[in-house]
Amino acid sequence: MESEKRDDKLPSNPPTVTGGCRCGLIRYIASAIPTKQTYCHCHTCRKLSGSAFMAFVDFPVDSVLITTETSSDWPRFTDWKAKHAELPSLRTIKVSPYATRTCCGACGSPISMVYVNAPEVIGITAGTVDDKCDMAKFGLESQHIFMKEKSEWYQMPEDGFPTQWEMEGVDKLLSK
Ligand SMILES: [Zn+2]
Ligand SMILES: [Zn+2]
Repeated sequence: MESEKRDDKLPSNPPTVTGGCRCGLIRYIASAIPTKQTYCHCHTCRKLSGSAFMAFVDFPVDSVLITTETSSDWPRFTDWKAKHAELPSLRTIKVSPYATRTCCGACGSPISMVYVNAPEVIGITAGTVDDKCDMAKFGLESQHIFMKEKSEWYQMPEDGFPTQWEMEGVDKLLSK
């Protein structure tokens, strides 16, 4: 894809994972090994994905760089606002006081979620990771969370992943 050509301009550490939105406006790279994969069945993830759940791959937030079609640099995800506040390309979505999500301002692909109380970790939407990245090679610990809000119509797969009624550490993440 044309949009993937911009990945050639990457700084320093080779990317472990690359990805982007459907229209190609948003591209990101991560230079760390992902730490976990989570399938979240919560009500918010269902609404924002329009599906049964949202899948996230966690990375240390400092390892993620992000860019757009209209810019030639790759700021850290955490520096994005300061550098590109004027660009509507990466939209911030805050539907609760507990987490900040982003999506592409053009095509609407959900891109990320960061808990306010755990700003060192970013969940990147697994569906936006480039196919060539072969996520299976990381052998990630995977889990289903927020089973208490799972949709009635969705039949869980027999994937052997542990399930959680809510999520581990939810008290810490949801306290203010
Ligand atoms: Zn897009
Ligand atoms: Zn969720």
